[in-house]
Amino acid sequence: MASGKEAHGWAARDASGHLSPFNFSRRVQRDGDVTIKVLFCGLCHTDLHVIKNEWGNAMYPLVPGHEVVGVVTDVAPGLTKFKAGDTVGVGYFVDSCRSCESCSKRFESYCPQLVQTSNGVDLFDGSTTQGGFSDVLIVSQDYLVRVPESLSPEGTAPLLCAGITVFSPMVQYGLNVPGKHLGESATWGSVASVTWASSLARRSG
Ligand SMILES: [Zn+2]
Ligand SMILES: [Zn+2]
Repeated sequence: MASGKEAHGWAARDASGHLSPFNFSRRVQRDGDVTIKVLFCGLCHTDLHVIKNEWGNAMYPLVPGHEVVGVVTDVAPGLTKFKAGDTVGVGYFVDSCRSCESCSKRFESYCPQLVQTSNGVDLFDGSTTQGGFSDVLIVSQDYLVRVPESLSPEGTAPLLCAGITVFSPMVQYGLNVPGKHLGESATWGSVASVTWASSLARRSG
């Protein structure tokens, strides 16, 4: 079996909350895969819960990070959707079953086989997924978004979880138009989401 791509990241080794340098291998590019050099990665409160094993599901060593912006450095043969040099984003998940009712309706986030970007289980080889607190990611093109040149990469990273978590229901309920306002009744984690989503709404509205 071919060896994967060398990667360097920061990993939690236990529930202390501390991260330390971690060398590991990314998978060999599969059909449809894109290799990304990570430029920025946000820190979501979910990362803090997971690295401290507060949800009881941590798989150490664990590289957190699911608000990733990077630049494409390589793509699988025949792939045309992205090319080297494109700025792209990776959010909370990197794969799903692609065939259940949720996936068929483009609500992959509800898929029972959702593969989280960090601390998830790869559907093909059963390996643990490692997140964006690292220098390189390899992700299926179907779970990447393009980052427009008009957005700063560092400002875009937190939009990929905190931002979209609130922006998505805002769009669903028609709140992303002038004259509509968000009421804020939030815990600490969601304050950040509301702030980022409000910023996104102002840009789009
Ligand atoms: Zn998050
Ligand atoms: Zn599914």
